[in-house]
Amino acid sequence: EQTRQQFEFKAEMKQLLHLIINSLYTNPEVFLRELISNSSDALNKVRFMQLTNETVQSADDPLQIKITLDEKEQTFSIEDTGVGMTEQELVERLGTIASSGTLEFIKQMQENKGKLDGNMIGQFGVGFYSAFMVTDEITVETKHANPEMPAMKWVSDGKGTFTIEESDRTQRGTKISFKLKEEHKEFAENWRVKSIIKKYSNFVDYPIVVGEEEVNKKGALWQKSKNDITDEELNEFYKFVSNDFNEPLDHLHLAMEGRMNFKALLFVPKKRKPNFFQNEELKSIQLYSNRVFVQEDCEPLLPEYLRFMEGLVDSEDLPLNVSREVTQYSPIMNKIKDVLVGKILGMIEYWAESETDKFKTFLTEFGPLFKSGINSDFTNRERLINLLRFQTTKSGDDELVSLKQYVEHMPDFQKQIYYLSGQSLKELRNDPRLEYFKKKDVEVLLLHDPADTFVVPGLMNFMEKEFASIEKSDIDLGKDDESAQDALSGEPLDKLIAVIKEAIGDKVEDVTASKRLVESAATLTVGKEGMDTQMEYMMKMMNQ
Ligand code: ADP
Ligand code: MG
Repeated sequence: EQTRQQFEFKAEMKQLLHLIINSLYTNPEVFLRELISNSSDALNKVRFMQLTNETVQSADDPLQIKITLDEKEQTFSIEDTGVGMTEQELVERLGTIASSGTLEFIKQMQENKGKLDGNMIGQFGVGFYSAFMVTDEITVETKHANPEMPAMKWVSDGKGTFTIEESDRTQRGTKISFKLKEEHKEFAENWRVKSIIKKYSNFVDYPIVVGEEEVNKKGALWQKSKNDITDEELNEFYKFVSNDFNEPLDHLHLAMEGRMNFKALLFVPKKRKPNFFQNEELKSIQLYSNRVFVQEDCEPLLPEYLRFMEGLVDSEDLPLNVSREVTQYSPIMNKIKDVLVGKILGMIEYWAESETDKFKTFLTEFGPLFKSGINSDFTNRERLINLLRFQTTKSGDDELVSLKQYVEHMPDFQKQIYYLSGQSLKELRNDPRLEYFKKKDVEVLLLHDPADTFVVPGLMNFMEKEFASIEKSDIDLGKDDESAQDALSGEPLDKLIAVIKEAIGDKVEDVTASKRLVESAATLTVGKEGMDTQMEYMMKMMNQ
């Protein structure tokens, strides 16, 4: 006869289980994700043992997760061929030693009375217990991969105690089974369970078999090496993660190893989503931890100005038990973010050099947001400024001129970078204020993207040349050429100015003679300190 031992849960565990059973009502379906993720962890461990040639129990068993449902009996079970647990592990990990996240979870539960989403449970490293949301009693049978270790059985109602005894299980791995509470009997239904798996665990690296059917056919595409992935698979995967029906503009597949370990499969869409600029909530990078889905729209992974990217990051350094608060400030996340930003900018720089059509499409779809990075990402400010492109008085309407090109074109006497902002390229091209610059053969940047109106004045200078709006009245391109004669000067000019001042004087700051007009008789300019007109217009639009 075997002996059955009874154990007390640790005090915090009792509190935790009490909270789970009595106050956590939302999102009970996540228990499935948590159990699958534990199985996946256990399979990862046994895979590692096999890779390092350790002797394991049931060495020929396929690495997989099997879910068995019985609608009539309202029973659920999940069984894996993972590493299993020794007797000591069973006692410690499922009861007597609270995980470091337990207290944090309890604290959050109490602070957010009733509002804490069941979805968050796994983020605190207490995922196993989420099964007590849907059942009153759990049985765990487990056989450790080490053939010497006896198989064990753990049973608990999650209230105050659990029991442990030897089991006659011979197969390596863990089986967790229970009868569902009446109000959660849906989790014994095939379609329901399959759809939850597709939602949360579709890219788990091991087959998840429900009944006889393998549900997660996709596999972790990003874990494969670049050469083993076809374009077709990439496109399919992109459509799956983004819900876009177009193919992506481009993608980045990263596999970082060494000091940092993560994989990333990221895409740039061809077209922005509807309302993309208005809806700042639209963020699409998923976070995985070792192939297990952790979090949607993971904000800390990318800065705001790159929020057009779609795809996922799978980090091996990041445990599943990370809460949103933790990911927000985690140094690992920051490091990943830095790498991602660098690689994304590298891709865009490559387009700018060698794939101009892609670059143009990108600028049309996401340019305004992308440029805003200049004012927020100071680390990469130079790189972003170098990616700015403009039409100018000397470029065609489709041509893209960089600041570097502009400065290289500058004649010796030109000391500043000139620009003019307006609402359309066509309007700008016909602006009388350009006449003087055309005559002098000096190129002027024509800013017709509202984003440029904000970004360019803030640049201050580029390659040691200041930026200057040609709307400002103090622009002088130096000594005028000898042959040009001023039509009016001296006393007659002063008289004319006096007449004009009298007529419109209170509507303008000043009236001055100008050499800037070649064919037109008069124009308005902005005083030295003034805002340029387009900026003023934008500010008015925004009610500022
Ligand atoms: P976490 O997964 O964050 O450690 P859980 O509450 O989900 O927290 O699981 C607690 C521990 O129980 C795990 O760390 C693992 O040691 C053990 N465990 C749970 N499920 C399994 C399983 N299927 N196979 C092996 N060990 C498991
Ligand atoms: Mg877990």
